Amino acid sequence: MRSLEEKRRLSHPAICARFDDVGRDGASAHLGIMGGTFDPPHFGHLACAEMAAEACGMDGVVFMVAGDPAFKQGQELASAADRLNMCRLATFDNPLFDVSALEAERSGITYTVDTARVLRAHYPACVRLSFIVGADALMTLPDWKDAPDLASLVDIVCVSRPGYLPDAELLARLERIGFAVELVTSPLLDISSSMIRQRVREGRTVRYLVPLSVDEYLISTGLYRAKGGTAHD
Ligand code: NAP
Repeated sequence: MRSLEEKRRLSHPAICARFDDVGRDGASAHLGIMGGTFDPPHFGHLACAEMAAEACGMDGVVFMVAGDPAFKQGQELASAADRLNMCRLATFDNPLFDVSALEAERSGITYTVDTARVLRAHYPACVRLSFIVGADALMTLPDWKDAPDLASLVDIVCVSRPGYLPDAELLARLERIGFAVELVTSPLLDISSSMIRQRVREGRTVRYLVPLSVDEYLISTGLYRAKGGTAHD
């Protein structure tokens, strides 16, 4: 039987239900934070998180759904509620993954440093926090809000295709800011959210590009479908 406190915590997690208590027993742990717009989530995102977790021996990965992404101002996005729903569907069968509504529920522009401050305050020092990014996000990292503060709160795991090496100048710049960057290679899955949205808009299939549950969500909600268009099934 679950205690009342446990039931309350599970229904109102501070970060996410599965990993809220990590580190509370004083044991060292390593959490990955997979930040993204996830408009929609696809197998590229999932593989990126899985490869980072394996390579770095992470105990879990929190998918952090950006509410109003800083670098996507003025772009039309699916609602945060839809993007959260799809992330939950995409990740629910992996015990290493959970989804956080922390950023999606925060008002104003989403800055990763604000999230990192909340996470660092929530988890004890025995929990290492690594923000997982792809190669494109890594290039923009020096321009993120309060980058030196962010660097002091989390380290960075950059997942990219085999053979890819970030520009030496970029790595030197990140080091000067204070970022610790670990490089992880992952097989290239040439899938992007924009490609999924485009295919859905054109009534084409996205099966095997997104988890079946996400495909079914897109079909049942009509998300991204051109007005007057038909589902691809
Ligand atoms: P996204 O498009 O949903 O992508 C999320 C992550 O998945 C990215 O790091 C991306 O790598 C990676 N990814 C996408 N497709 C992939 C594939 N096929 N294989 C492997 N990896 C893949 O999210 P986003 O809009 O880039 O945002 C990323 C995070 O950066 C968010 O948490 C956002 O809040 C944060 N951010 C913060 C600031 C700030 O605080 N000022 C500014 C910008 C972004 P790529 O980088 O290679 O696309």
